[in-house]
Amino acid sequence: MSDLGLFVIYFTTVTIGAVIVLIFITYFFMRKHIFTAPAGEIVTTKAVTVLKCPLCDYRLRRSFREGDHVGAVASETCPIHGTNLIVEAVYSETEEKKE
Ligand SMILES: [Zn+2]
Repeated sequence: MSDLGLFVIYFTTVTIGAVIVLIFITYFFMRKHIFTAPAGEIVTTKAVTVLKCPLCDYRLRRSFREGDHVGAVASETCPIHGTNLIVEAVYSETEEKKE
């Protein structure tokens, strides 16, 4: 009787211990693979507008402003002709540190 009782206590202890160890292993495995998953690089993009003089090759690059679209007349003027620049292109670029 007492032998069986000891066996049951021993078996229960080992089983509970094994389950706890398994839970910890699972927890750390999950944490390693889920929470430290690709941190990813922070990439910022900004919209850029390229303005061009209709009379010469003068180009000006500035940040995008609402209302900018290809062919639109910008408020900026050509330093040579004094004519209003035309929006030649609008695109977004990735911010990079080139210094
Ligand atoms: Zn010009």
